[in-house]
Amino acid sequence: MNQQALWYQSLDEDTVQCTLCPHLCNLKAGKTGICRVRTNIDGKLITEVNGFVSSIRFDPIEKKPLYHFYPGTSILSIGTYGCNLRCFFCQNCSISQTGVKAELPQTFYTPAQIVDMAVKKPANTGIAFTYNEPIVWFEYMYDIARLAKKAGLKTVMVTNGFINAEPLKALIEHIDAFSIDLKAFNEEFYSKVTSSKLEPVKEALKQISRAGKHLEIVNLVIPELNDDDSSFKDMVKWISSELGKETVFHISRYFPHYKLSTAETPISVMRHLKQIAERELTYVYSGNIYAESSETRCIMCHNVLITRSSYTISTPGIDDLGKCKVCGNDFLKKT
Ligand code: SF4
Ligand code: SF4
Repeated sequence: MNQQALWYQSLDEDTVQCTLCPHLCNLKAGKTGICRVRTNIDGKLITEVNGFVSSIRFDPIEKKPLYHFYPGTSILSIGTYGCNLRCFFCQNCSISQTGVKAELPQTFYTPAQIVDMAVKKPANTGIAFTYNEPIVWFEYMYDIARLAKKAGLKTVMVTNGFINAEPLKALIEHIDAFSIDLKAFNEEFYSKVTSSKLEPVKEALKQISRAGKHLEIVNLVIPELNDDDSSFKDMVKWISSELGKETVFHISRYFPHYKLSTAETPISVMRHLKQIAERELTYVYSGNIYAESSETRCIMCHNVLITRSSYTISTPGIDDLGKCKVCGNDFLKKT
């Protein structure tokens, strides 16, 4: 459903500038932004995806991935169409690299219907905005997040982090946890492979961290494009110094998809980079590796808190308040 967008300014009678993300698209009447879903209609910026859901299901929260936020629970996960990036390797290109088209599946839900669904599901933690890039349906996400908080639900955003500071500030108030892709640590990669920029993503990460929100970072390792030791070391050192040594960091294995046919990341490279990351960060996990299991130990007494085998999650060492059962260390951030 079309709705007037937030975050834009009129430049002249028929031109608007969208100020939601750092692309800052200048749009003449009838033109649509890089994200394909925000259009200047008669001098007003309109979001075309308000309420149009392309994908909806209950997922394990570990699938976002979030490993230190309500482990072992499910979360209602929703997405629409569009994205402000153009990653060559996008795993969800069928929904991210298109706008709303009549031939594509789409179901309309009001924010209240989404919240109601999440509330009624037993053992459901909340609502995650995911699958495509949720920034592009900012207004809908914002409305749902506010309602969800009132209903006692947790809210999660799985995002590329390419958003301007003011809209992010408005969102942060109503989002409890962020899973953010840090796709590489050089501007050339961001420019050539994703059609965006690294610096605004770093700023968004710092803003979220300063706000004290739960934050986990994902780096998809792609052979020859972002797997060199030097830039990877710079990335993990930056995370440790700017965001904190205990920032949860996921290294994810790449498989060919969309425009990229490079062979999948060798397991040996994943293990090597994990060792480098572990020199700087306390919690490092590798993902997208078949049959690999992982565990999380208490940083104080080394008691096993969480075990994971695929999406079978067990929390033998955590009490109901999220504390270590042995030493009482308050490990899980339950916002
Ligand atoms: S959200 Fe879309 S329209 Fe707005 S600046 Fe970003 S890409 Fe352009
Ligand atoms: S930011 Fe995510 S959804 Fe958008 S193109 Fe890149 S990988 Fe796909």
